[in-house]
Amino acid sequence: MLATKDLDQFRQQVRHFVADQLPNDLRQTVHQGQMPTRVQLHDWHARLAAAGVLVPHWPAEWGGRGWTVAQQMVFDEEMALGGAPELNAITFDMIGPVLMRFGSPAQQQRFLPTIATGQQWWCQGYSEPNAGSDLAGLATRAERDGQDYLVNGSKIWTSYAQYADWIFVLVRTDRAGKPQEGISFLLIEMNTPGISVRPIVGIHGWPVFCEVFFDNVRVPVDQRVGEEDKGWTVAKSLLEFERLKLARIGENKRRMARVRDIALSRTRGGRRVADMPWFRERFAELESRLIALEANAARFVARQAAGERLGAEVSMLKMRGSRLIQLWEELIVDALGPEAMPLSQEWLEGKAGATLQDPLAGTASSRRFLARGYTIAGGTSEIQHNIMAKQVLAL
Ligand SMILES: Cc1cc2nc3c(=O)[nH]c(=O)nc-3n(C[C@H](O)[C@H](O)[C@H](O)COP(=O)(O)OP(=O)(O)OC[C@H]3O[C@@H](n4cnc5c(N)ncnc54)[C@H](O)[C@@H]3O)c2cc1C
Repeated sequence: MLATKDLDQFRQQVRHFVADQLPNDLRQTVHQGQMPTRVQLHDWHARLAAAGVLVPHWPAEWGGRGWTVAQQMVFDEEMALGGAPELNAITFDMIGPVLMRFGSPAQQQRFLPTIATGQQWWCQGYSEPNAGSDLAGLATRAERDGQDYLVNGSKIWTSYAQYADWIFVLVRTDRAGKPQEGISFLLIEMNTPGISVRPIVGIHGWPVFCEVFFDNVRVPVDQRVGEEDKGWTVAKSLLEFERLKLARIGENKRRMARVRDIALSRTRGGRRVADMPWFRERFAELESRLIALEANAARFVARQAAGERLGAEVSMLKMRGSRLIQLWEELIVDALGPEAMPLSQEWLEGKAGATLQDPLAGTASSRRFLARGYTIAGGTSEIQHNIMAKQVLAL
């Protein structure tokens, strides 16, 4: 299944696959714009792994299919349009490829086959209260104690740390020299004594992020990836993997379809929202931006397929793709009007005697706030602008 190089045929196969395999309850959860549970995701990962399409972009020796970027993008798009949840990029697109490139053979054997089953989840411990864009300012330290490191400090904004089995963290192992020197990359099991996790409930009402505290956490030296003090190279490489996917074409199309459904099914003042000039103008503008984004992404895919090395200009896909998702979410809220008023938890749970007519509308404001983070996570848009100004435009 799913082996053909003909992209149109391949697209049809993926469409049938997701229609056939995606469990109804999960499709419903995603359709309503809610967070899938860990159990739902585990089950979905198991189905994808059984069909050999959980990590299709990985090389065959680690359970992948060696798909091209173009195939991977078609796959992601069809999955999004078919109602499947976004997969955990930190596990499948970040730590997996990092271990393939920088991990020791023992680390690769230990982790990669398990990650490829989809039953082991990872989170990313980079940011700290005083180290975000300026990541090299991180202060969490690891000191050698025999065959272990003792780790002390804290991380923040760690997405879904409360569900993760393992975390990869950047720690300071040397304080002399430049800030980028003296950083090491460690793998730590989340149930190691001394780790505590405190979820942070965001303005959207969901505990997406966490603080993670390390209090004398003992980590065997063989859980360091790469050389001691050379973790910066490993850390930066994460962002190179799958950069083309950051355009998030599928996620943008999913939202465009949502807006269209909402505008066609709602009236205001006796008039269909889809027929209102303000709506049509904004929809047309966003659709044009999406077509431009897709064309740009296709250009990069063609360049990569021709063997060209892509430079910092790929950052524009991340900037544009993430901003566009925010604009769709804003349009969804505006198209819903009063239906998208933020609701109290009590109301949501029906305690006030109210029932939620349409969960998608009821959580639209939450999703809009959630999307605010898209232009911050993985390097803010301001930082991406700086990179492009320096490296592409030589300003
Ligand atoms: C949805 C989401 C998920 C995240 N998940 C994780 C995770 O799993 N693991 C993890 O480690 N981190 C995670 N983060 C944290 C993220 O990496 C940081 O928020 C990000 O790097 C910015 O750092 P900061 O929040 O400290 O902001 P700061 O770096 O303090 O920036 C504040 C503002 O100043 C601007 N700014 C900073 N420096 C410059 C400059 N040189 N030029 C121009 N403008 C500048 C920024 O653009 C921003 O607007 C996540 C964040 C979000 C929003």
